[in-house]
Formats: sequence, structure tokens, C-alpha cells
Amino acid sequence: MNVDKILDQMTLEEKVKLLCGKSSWRLNGVERLGVPEILVTDGPHGLRLSEGLDPSKTKPATALPVEAAMAATWNTQLVMQAAKMVGVECQHYGVSVLLGPGLNGKRSPLGGRNFEYYSEDPYLSGKMASAFIKGIQSEGVGACLKHFAGNEQETRRFMINAVIDNRTFHEIYLAPFKLAIEEANPWTMMGAYNRVNGPFACESELLLETILREGYGYEGLIMSDWTAVSNKVETVKNGLDLEMPGPGRQDHEVIQAVESGHLSEEVINKHAKRVLNLIKKAVENKKEVHVDWDKHHETAVKLAEESAVLLKNDGILPLQKDEGIGVIGEFAQTPRFQGGGSSHMNPQRMESPLDVLKIFSRVAFAQGYERDHTSEKLTQQALEVARNSEKLVFFTGTTSKLESEGFDRPNIKIPDDHQTLLSKLAEVNPNIVVVLNCGSAIETRDFEDHTRAILLAWLPGQGGGKALGRLLFGYVSPSGKLSETFPVRLEHNPSYCDFPGGKDQVVYSEGVFVGYRHYDTKKLPVQYPFGHGLSYSSFFYSNLEVDVERLTLSVTVKNTGMLKAKEVVQVYVHDVASSAVRPENELKGFGKIQLESGEEGCLHIDLDKEAFSYYSENLKSLARESGDFLIRVGASSRDIRLEKRVHVEGNPDFSRMPHMNDTLNDWLDDDRTRGRARDILDIMEMDEYSTHYGIMVGMPMTKVLW
Ligand code: BGC
Repeated sequence: MNVDKILDQMTLEEKVKLLCGKSSWRLNGVERLGVPEILVTDGPHGLRLSEGLDPSKTKPATALPVEAAMAATWNTQLVMQAAKMVGVECQHYGVSVLLGPGLNGKRSPLGGRNFEYYSEDPYLSGKMASAFIKGIQSEGVGACLKHFAGNEQETRRFMINAVIDNRTFHEIYLAPFKLAIEEANPWTMMGAYNRVNGPFACESELLLETILREGYGYEGLIMSDWTAVSNKVETVKNGLDLEMPGPGRQDHEVIQAVESGHLSEEVINKHAKRVLNLIKKAVENKKEVHVDWDKHHETAVKLAEESAVLLKNDGILPLQKDEGIGVIGEFAQTPRFQGGGSSHMNPQRMESPLDVLKIFSRVAFAQGYERDHTSEKLTQQALEVARNSEKLVFFTGTTSKLESEGFDRPNIKIPDDHQTLLSKLAEVNPNIVVVLNCGSAIETRDFEDHTRAILLAWLPGQGGGKALGRLLFGYVSPSGKLSETFPVRLEHNPSYCDFPGGKDQVVYSEGVFVGYRHYDTKKLPVQYPFGHGLSYSSFFYSNLEVDVERLTLSVTVKNTGMLKAKEVVQVYVHDVASSAVRPENELKGFGKIQLESGEEGCLHIDLDKEAFSYYSENLKSLARESGDFLIRVGASSRDIRLEKRVHVEGNPDFSRMPHMNDTLNDWLDDDRTRGRARDILDIMEMDEYSTHYGIMVGMPMTKVLW
């Protein structure tokens, strides 16, 4: 396909038509010139190819754990491998672009789509998205990085104005997009529904042209979220290439805008060329594939296994094979494996946890509840099982009513009836293991006392049952670590007073202090910290070596337990002194290592290239400020095992030159003006012990020199 030649032959009408989809999932082609239509469809935790509106007609595909769970593996290789598999399934069904991954942030645990996003940490999110994009694109299928940007809530998502200051925007919400674009170059991006600091994301020249194109050098195609375009002429003018879905209803207005000179044909050509480039890529990468569904299922199991986080265990786990167990909860029988909304897919196969547990052990089962309700009859049946079992496995979590695209969560608790049932069970049987099926943080404090272990299984996709059996019975040791903090209570969350905002706008008033950045800085207790996850084994860390120039470090990890297991090593950076308030800890590297019992291994970890940076108002970008930093290596943000102090040279113009309206103190603080400030103090024969020193250094230079 010769894109330039085709473009030259196209009429204005044809070009404009190309800038909108043909139908829900199909792009327009240009039949006359041999340009085919291509298919895009939802993900992101697997392929969702539907025919019409009937969900039962959705093509079966491998359902992976949701993104929050994928991030909890901290295993980019495994995520890449799984995404590759999704790519193969896309080829199988003739899909050219998968609408994912989602990369929005988690301001609040209430975010309705948090399950679809990776982490509260921008670096972990960016690395996971990069792995996913690389995997899927390695099979010749495009990814679509969404929703750019500021789409951190579902409430009024179509119209809310997200008010985000520059520093917060760049450090927290744009950073993962930047990283994923630089590392993995997604074929396409999706503009969000909401407004950001005024304009709609899909109409924002700042977002699309200045930040994405000029700032990040992004050359792929930018499409709108579904129905996000309201004023087509504005979106075309300000950088959006493709409106979705189709057919287009504003082609006429666009043509008129060109004819009246309001829009140049050059702009139309630029967008049309990007659509043609995408179609060309899709055509050139189409291939015949064979789908090995068994292998794909095993990858889904592996991912579910590595994503599960053992939050708590007093030694009751692993269970002994063949010891009889009581299993309670509808989710054991009807697996709760995915969230609601556009990511909802039709799994290619499904093993229920109950069926799998029966393979490992004698099982007595009681349903316990139906969705979020229980009844006297269900309660009595569950109590009967509890009385007659040595140990109980109780399934709970969120119901689909509580976690879905389209609305935010009303709270972060398990349903009241589940909670009540659990406390009744605990009265007759103290040996309870809780399995949590949810896509984001839960308040566990109200039922902690009724449990001896809690295993967060997330919404684990179609491999969840098998993974759970293997984990509970110790065939594999849990190695997932939390990709988001579990707070003691929702009210402790920094966005609590500003989420989901008012009718028109939401202000990101907590700034960069999101998730553990807030809890660790404020030294607040949390239920389970970011990065936390227990193992059936234990690990000892030693020999931390840091190479600041090359942005790498190495650390020795020894498996000091009895079982083969994997450990996730996390690297946090702490700025010892900076001119802005910075979070106590910021994740800037991580690695995962598998070790036999007694084995020792050296883990090399690359640091984020922005490891020491934060947003410089002067340079209008992320940059480094000179100074000392602590490199903290640990098993969670609250379990730091090793620490090293390093010095980093900053960007020369990190902060603006102090001027006459700044204080004498500001001049003393800055290397570039300190000498002159001291001279002035000498002339005034003043030092820190002088009576009026405090007053003088707090004055602006205009007054000092007056
Ligand atoms: C969602 C997108 C999705 C699209 C197509 C929108 O409502 O926000 O994530 O890709 O629908 O289903």
C-alpha cells in the first residue's frame, strides 16, 4: 500500500470519511482505491469481539486476570507473554487493534474502573503497559493506549473537568503514558471522554499536539473514546485523527470548515495519512495463526498464580493435600473473574475454584450467599459445613454491582451479608481462610479478626480456579505483591474529600500524594502497604551496589525458607532535601527472582530514567535537582531492607534564577546567588546570630537593598 499515492488520489469527501469509523468496531476503507476496512475491538484483559449487542454472541477468547492483578505479578516478562497470546487470538479473529491497555491512575479506591488499570504507581503502571503493548504488537496487532488523559473516575466521565496542576499531571498521570510510548510505541492511543483543565481531552491541543506529538514524539494514530467527539471540527483541528464509533454524523461540518477556510486541507491530509498508515500496518501484519487454546489457558493460570497476593497468613496456609475442607461462597462455584463494562468478555473455558479444590481435597460446600445477599436457609447450610470441617475457605469480594465501568464504587467494603455470614461462621470455626475476589482495594479491618489467612485472588480470569488450588495447597508459593495500598479505611485516602468532585469539575487537590506517596509521607497506618505480599518462604537481602551514572543497581537475595519461591524486590527513591515537598518513597525500579530453598541469586535492576526527577516549573518538564538521595530496597514500601545514599548532579536550570522579588533566603538557598547574598550580609555586618537576621532574610531583595 503506497499511502502517499493513495492520499493524492482521494477526494476531500473520501478523506473526511476516513476520519470516522464505519460502525462500532470497523474503520472505513476506500474501496475504490483498494484500501480495506479493518477491525478494532475491546480488551484489555483478553479479546472481546462481539457481534451486535448480544453479549452471548461474543467470541470466546482467553480471559486473563484484570490489569490490577497483572500489575501485582510485577513480572513484565509474563505479562508480555500473555499479551502476545492475546495478539495471536486477535489475528485468529481478524482483529487489527485491541482497545487496551488502560493506563489511567488510581486517585481513589472508589474508581469504578480501577480493576482495569494497573497501579496507583506511575512507574509500575508504565512498565506493565509497555510489556503488554510489546507483547501484543510483536504479533502484528496494534495496541490502543487509553484513556488519554485525566480519566480517573467514572462519575460524570463524559463531561467532568479534571483540574490537575502541572506537576501532578506530569509526575503522576502523564508519566505512565510517556513511559509506555517511549518504551513500546503503541500503534494507537485513545482520547478520554472528560475535560482536562478546560477543553475536552479529544479537543485539547495541549494534550494532543503539545504533549503527545511534540513532547513525546508520538507518531501513531489517536482515536476518540466511543462517542467522545462532540464538536468534530474542533477535534480535527486540535489533533484527533479518528472519531469512534461510526458512521460519522459531522462529515458535512468538517467539509464546510475546509471549504470556508476555517480548517486547512493540510490538517485533513495529516489525519487521513495516519489512518491510512494504520490500515497499511494492519494489512502488512495480517497472518494465519494457529491458536493453541490449551497453552493460552496455562498462561492465564500462570498469570493468575503470580498475581495472587497473600495478605495475611498465621501458618494455616498452605493447606495439606487430602485434608478435608469446607468451602463456602457462591464465588467458589460461579467464579467472579472479571469486571463489568466494555472489558467484559466471553472466556474460552472456565474451571470453577470449587471443581479444582475437589481435585486436591475432600470438599464440603455451601453456597452461603447469592450475590450480595444471604438468607436464613443459606446461612444454616453454611454453618452446618463450618461445624463439620476442620478448616474453611470462604470466598468473598465485590459483586458486579459494585465494580464496573460506568459508575464509581459506593464504598470499598465486602457486601454486608457476606460480612455477617463470615462473623457467624467464625463463631463455630476459627480456622478460616478468606479468598478475596475483587479488582481493587477492599477494607478488610472489619473481618480481619475472623480470619487466619487472606488471599487476594483479584478478578483472576479463566485460570483463577486452577491457580487458586495450586496456591492454597502449596504447589506454588504466592509471589504477588500489592499494586495498590489497602487503606485501614477509605476516609484515609488523600482524595477522599475531592472524589468524585462536583457536577462540573473535580480538583486533584491531593497533588502528587497519591496512594502510598501519601500514606508513607504522612506516616499513616495502612492495612496492607503498597508492594506487600507474603510468601510460603522467606528472603534475605544483602550486597546493595548502586551505579548512579548507569541507573542500575544489584542486590543479592537468598531464599532462607523451605520452599522454592519467587520474590519481588522493589526500589524506592527518597530525596533527602529538595526545594519542593516530595513523597517519602517513590518506586523507581523492581525485579522478580525465583530461588530454590537455600539458593542465593543476584538481581540486577534498571532504574527509571526519571528516577531522581520531579517536575521543574522552570523547565516545564521532569528534571533532576542536585542533591543526595536514598536508594531504598525492600519487600514493600514499608519493609525496606537495604539503603544507600547517593549524590546526583541536577539539571542546571532546574529552578528559575532567583529575582529581586524573591527573599534574601531564596538567594542564600540557590548556588547561583549564594555568593552575592553572603556579600550583602557581610556589608550589613549581619550573621545568623544578629537580632534582625530572621527579619532581613525573609524580606524580598527589593527591600533588602532599599
Ligand atoms: C470505554 C472504552 C472502550 C470503548 C469501546 C468506552 O465506553 O471507555 O474503554 O474501549 O467504550 O467499547
